[in-house]
Amino acid sequence: MAQAIPLVDLQAQYRVIGDEVDAAIRRVISATSFILGPEVATFEKAFAAYCGAEHCVGVSSGTAALELALRALGVGAGDEVITTAHTFIATAEAISAVGAVPVFVDIDPVTFNLDPGLVEQAITPQTRAVMPVHLYGQPANMTRINQIAREHGLWVIEDAAQAHGALWNGQRPGVLGDVACFSFYPGKNLGAYGDAGAVVTNRAEVAEKVRLLRNHGRRDKYVHEEIGFGERLDALQAAILGAKLPHLEGWTAARNRLAERYSQLLADVEIDLPQVAPEARHAWHLYVVRTPRRDELLRHLHAQGIGAGVHYPLPLHLQPAYAALGGGPGDLPVTEAVAETCLSLPLYPEMTDEQQDRVVQAIEEFVTDLVYAA
Ligand SMILES: *Cc1c(COP(=O)(O)O)cnc(C)c1O
Repeated sequence: MAQAIPLVDLQAQYRVIGDEVDAAIRRVISATSFILGPEVATFEKAFAAYCGAEHCVGVSSGTAALELALRALGVGAGDEVITTAHTFIATAEAISAVGAVPVFVDIDPVTFNLDPGLVEQAITPQTRAVMPVHLYGQPANMTRINQIAREHGLWVIEDAAQAHGALWNGQRPGVLGDVACFSFYPGKNLGAYGDAGAVVTNRAEVAEKVRLLRNHGRRDKYVHEEIGFGERLDALQAAILGAKLPHLEGWTAARNRLAERYSQLLADVEIDLPQVAPEARHAWHLYVVRTPRRDELLRHLHAQGIGAGVHYPLPLHLQPAYAALGGGPGDLPVTEAVAETCLSLPLYPEMTDEQQDRVVQAIEEFVTDLVYAA
């Protein structure tokens, strides 16, 4: 069989930038300064500048970023946070972790992002915040969401874990709401070599609070101003991220080229292709197609060594972990339809045209076989 094509290929990336990453790692190890310190401060400054934001606070993961951002905004017990059920569970877990309740609303059938009209309908006196996810790398409709939030006095917390490099009306995630939360999980568009995350904001008081909370509530070594957490970004991860950040624009451009190429090559194939909102520059964390024969196509691709995936097969309102919220099938029709039909194709900046052609060919074969079988 031909060589396997993974969903993401971090080894291909390391082959290109290995020297830079190794040098960053050696620098940290020879300085033996592993927690916070200058490496973290330098990366925070660089990533804030990249986002066009005033502040970036490095934390231990994307999940920690979401949780600390909610705490810094004072969201807690008894509060409701409106979000999507078509996302990774960490989005909702952070809301639950601070004692608030995630309120799931349905998604837009074209972008798979929060439907602003439904956000507005879900607002109650308990609602404190809206948490849009820029799913697959495409920003949610931040123009409408911000408008609704302003009218109702709600915080807007971006889950930007998949959207490094995206734009909405020329602005980056990080400044599209009150606060934005990034994940640097290895497979994300900007990935560490372990767990890492960041909170980005233009609000000085929010950044200050997250700084305090991530490091046991202290500013000075022995004075703990409040009960905080051990959720710091470590220096090794910061140095690796700092080495990778200058490549992010190029990687995003490569992802856009490959995504457009997929869309051209698959234009005449019986399969639904992803659409980009006119206000958006997509970061293409994932290229997600839809077909009613999803599970069969997935098996067909896997049999050919093609690492397709499903993001996400079971929406959060149907997860056992959230059974207590009382959600059930039929509550979120668009979310449920997308969950049953979505399929993520391999996409990473180093992917070659030949590899992409093989993926396209395999899909064409599958669709053609179906036509003949019918
Ligand atoms: C990856 C991800 C997270 C969580 O990030 P971690 O760094 O793994 O904690 C949160 N939300 C979304 C949408 C993600 O894709």
